[in-house]
Amino acid sequence: MMAPGPPASQLAVPELVPLLRVARGAALVAAIIGAAAVAAVVIAVLVDPGLLGPLLGWLVGLALVSVAGLLVRIQAPRIHRHLNASRYAKARDEALSWGIVGLFAFVVPGVYLLRVWSRINEELAGVPGVVASAAPPPAPTPAVVARPYAPPVGPPPITAPRPPAGPSVAVSGPPLCPRCGQPSTWIEQYRRWYCYRDQLYV
Ligand SMILES: [Zn+2]
Repeated sequence: MMAPGPPASQLAVPELVPLLRVARGAALVAAIIGAAAVAAVVIAVLVDPGLLGPLLGWLVGLALVSVAGLLVRIQAPRIHRHLNASRYAKARDEALSWGIVGLFAFVVPGVYLLRVWSRINEELAGVPGVVASAAPPPAPTPAVVARPYAPPVGPPPITAPRPPAGPSVAVSGPPLCPRCGQPSTWIEQYRRWYCYRDQLYV
């Protein structure tokens, strides 16, 4: 049995690492291909200046691809560092920004970064309190975790679900997770039901 811990620190970072890796790799490929194509167009225009007019659109577009790929390649590791440091809101915002830029780098880096953005959004939606990124999350600090059975600050709200006690466990049981269907776990610290498998509150 897992003891009630700080769910906010259990965001699924590992599964995002491959997505970030693909985004970085695809961005590098786009940067190289874009730069090579720009060079080819420049050479063609130098050989025949009359080609500048017809090829100007290609020149601008390929330069945009190359620059977007280079920017994403350079900036994507910041997202990884934010995740490692539990700065999820920052990681989410940068994944969105660079994801949009990445769409210009032959689409693939953008798609993968937007998947990262979407996944972090899901995680943050399942863990209230982490969304408020400006302030540090109040509850899940190591000091609080060290004494998981600290008494609640105030009286429990009447509408809050209570952990079934004694024989009633067999009768009602914990609510099932809407995502995986497994029974959820009561987190006394937050007075809510929580699914460890999906890392979300039920
Ligand atoms: Zn679940």
